[in-house]
Amino acid sequence: MDSSILVVNAGSSSIKFMLFEHAEGHLARRMRGQVEGIGTRLRLVAFEAADEPVVEHSGKEEAGAGSDAAIQLLAGWMREYLSGAFPGAVGHRVVHGGSRFDQPVLIDDDVLAELEDLVPLAPLHQPLNLAPIKAMRQSRPQTPQVACFDSAFHRGHDEITQRFALPDWLWQDGVRRYGFHGLSYEYIARALRDLAPEIADGRVVVAHLGSGASLCALKGGASVESSMGFTALDGLPMGTRPGRLDPGVLLYLINQKGMDGHELERLLYHECGLKGLSGISNDVRDLLASDDPGASLALEYFCHRTAAEIGAMAVGLGGLDGLVFTAGIGENVPEIRKGICDRLGVFGIELDEDANARHARVISREGPCPPVMVIATDEERMIAEHTLRVVGSV
Ligand code: ADP
Repeated sequence: MDSSILVVNAGSSSIKFMLFEHAEGHLARRMRGQVEGIGTRLRLVAFEAADEPVVEHSGKEEAGAGSDAAIQLLAGWMREYLSGAFPGAVGHRVVHGGSRFDQPVLIDDDVLAELEDLVPLAPLHQPLNLAPIKAMRQSRPQTPQVACFDSAFHRGHDEITQRFALPDWLWQDGVRRYGFHGLSYEYIARALRDLAPEIADGRVVVAHLGSGASLCALKGGASVESSMGFTALDGLPMGTRPGRLDPGVLLYLINQKGMDGHELERLLYHECGLKGLSGISNDVRDLLASDDPGASLALEYFCHRTAAEIGAMAVGLGGLDGLVFTAGIGENVPEIRKGICDRLGVFGIELDEDANARHARVISREGPCPPVMVIATDEERMIAEHTLRVVGSV
C-alpha cells in the first residue's frame, strides 16, 4: 500500500482526506473522507470510489474534542483501513507560503520553522494546516510530507498588483496581496489546455465560488491577479465573510462600538457575507429555497459584487477571452451564474440559458462572445500530483 499518497486538507471544523493510488505515473483516487465535528462531536466518514461509505465512525464522544483528537482519530482509522501499512507520502494543503514559497516543498525542520513564522499572516488557518504535519512527523518521521500552498500559484504577480497603497514599511513587513485558492486555479488553468485550448493562452477570469470565493485573472495560463488579498477576507462576498470592505467600517466598529480584535475577527470570518446579509444562512441552497426578502437581497448582492470584481479583473487583463465558473456554487448553481453573466454584457458575454440550466460545460451562446465555461475543480488531485513530483516516486 505504500504506493499510495494521502492528501490532507485540515480546516477549522473538519479534516478532509483523500487516498490516491499510484501506478506508472497515473494517480487513481481510491478513497475520500473527512473527520468532521471538530470542537463539537467528532465523526469520521469515508467513501470508496463507488461513493458508498466504507465507514462511519464516531470518535471521542465528549463535546469539545479538538483538532488533535481529530488527527488521532484519522491516524488510528487509517492504520486499520490500510491493515497496518501507511501511504508512501502525504501531501498537505497549506494556506500560506508567504513571499518565499512559489512551489510545493518537501517538509523538513527548516521548512516547518518557516511555515510557523507565517502563522501571524494566517492565524486562523495556518496552525490548523500545520498540526497534522507535526503529528505525522512525530509518529511517522520516515514518511515524506509535502506542503502545497494556496498562495503559491499567485507568486508571479507584478508588484503593482501585489501592493496596497500603504507606506513602504508595511510592504517590507509582508503586508501585500498574496491571493489564495491557488491549487484550484492551477488545476483549472491546466484543464483549460485540454478542454478549451483556444482560450487557454488568452485572458481568462476564473471564478472559484464556494463557501470561500475569489477570482483569478489568468494570462497565458499564469495567474496575474487575484481578488483575495492579504487574507482570505478580501474581494468577493462569501458564505460568512464580507469581501471587499471600506476599512473605515473597522475604525467605526473599534472607535465607536468598542469592538476588540477578537470580536472583529469573529464578525468578519463568521457573521458576514451571505449569512450576515440574509440573516438566514451561509448556504446558497437555503437562500434559493427561501422566499424571505433577505435571501434574495443576499443572492443579488453576491451576483452584483462578483460581476463588478470580474470587471476589475478584465480591466487588469486588458480584455476578456473567457470566463470559468468552478467550486460548490460555481459548479452547481445556474441562478448565480445567470445573475453574474447578465451583468457582464459590456464584455460581450451572452448566456445560453438552456445550457446553463443543464450545467453544460460551455454555457455561453455560440458566436463571437467570449466562452463561459463550467469546470469542476480538483484541488486534492493537484496536491497528490505535486506530492508525487516532489518526492519523485512512491
Ligand atoms: P468549500 O470547499 O470552500 O467548503 P465548496 O466549494 O464545497 O466550499 O462550496 C460550498 C458551497 O457551495 C455551499 O455553501 C453551497 O452554498 C454551495 N453548494 C455546494 N453544492 C451545491 C449544490 N449541489 N447546489 C447548490 N449549492 C451548492
